[in-house]
Amino acid sequence: MVKRRPFIAGNWKMNKVTGEALAFAREFKALAPELQGADIAICAPFTCLAALAEIFRDTPVAVGAQNMFYERSGAYTGEISPDMIVDAGCSAVIIGHSERREILGETDETVRRKTRLALETGLRPIVCVGETLAVREAGRAAPHVRAQVEKALAGLDPAAMSRVTVAYEPIWAIGTGRVATAADAQEICAVVRGTIAGFAGAAAGETYILYGGSVKADNIAELLGTGDIDGALVGGASLKAAEFAELIRRAAGAA
Ligand code: PEP
Repeated sequence: MVKRRPFIAGNWKMNKVTGEALAFAREFKALAPELQGADIAICAPFTCLAALAEIFRDTPVAVGAQNMFYERSGAYTGEISPDMIVDAGCSAVIIGHSERREILGETDETVRRKTRLALETGLRPIVCVGETLAVREAGRAAPHVRAQVEKALAGLDPAAMSRVTVAYEPIWAIGTGRVATAADAQEICAVVRGTIAGFAGAAAGETYILYGGSVKADNIAELLGTGDIDGALVGGASLKAAEFAELIRRAAGAA
């Protein structure tokens, strides 16, 4: 398989009001010319998306949302549609993050619907999958992730697979400082690619597969040195501009 430019996506979660986001953006934008060699996205809270998209307009830094609703409009008080996310200047959206699955009732079915609608709306979905510690310790990580990938993506037009990104994020590694070994991460990312190949054939080679879970500048090169990991979804280490830039620099150097 051809190794691509790594894709590094930051997930700010529920952090930063607009002033803080803009301070990050000004600092990060000044560093961006040094960050050639990787595709970059910053997935921020809804309230600062438009301001971030404006500041990163005409730069290689894409702005993304962290969730969207599975309908385009209507009586869904409090929800945000993919068209609104596009309208704010975004090109990507995280779907099915484990925090949404575990805390906010996101299901495989809502992930499936959101992924289809994101593609239809022209957004790049970053679809998250991953197992709990209990599932891993029961030796069921691979079938668990295979089922999540099938439920989210099976039946999509194979031609769409190059616009899909899957992030494998073992739940026990998110925000814990406990990173999966590169070999463990690679093993499950290969399962993700093999599962996609099962229903989309050779198009699976076009799908970006990211690892997420306590990724930092210090461990990104090792993760990217494996066969099926095309980049990373980064939480904590994406919150400070200099730290995130250093991680991206090392990712670009590792590719
Ligand atoms: C995440 O939020 O998707 C994530 C992987 O977080 P962290 O990098 O902090 O573990």
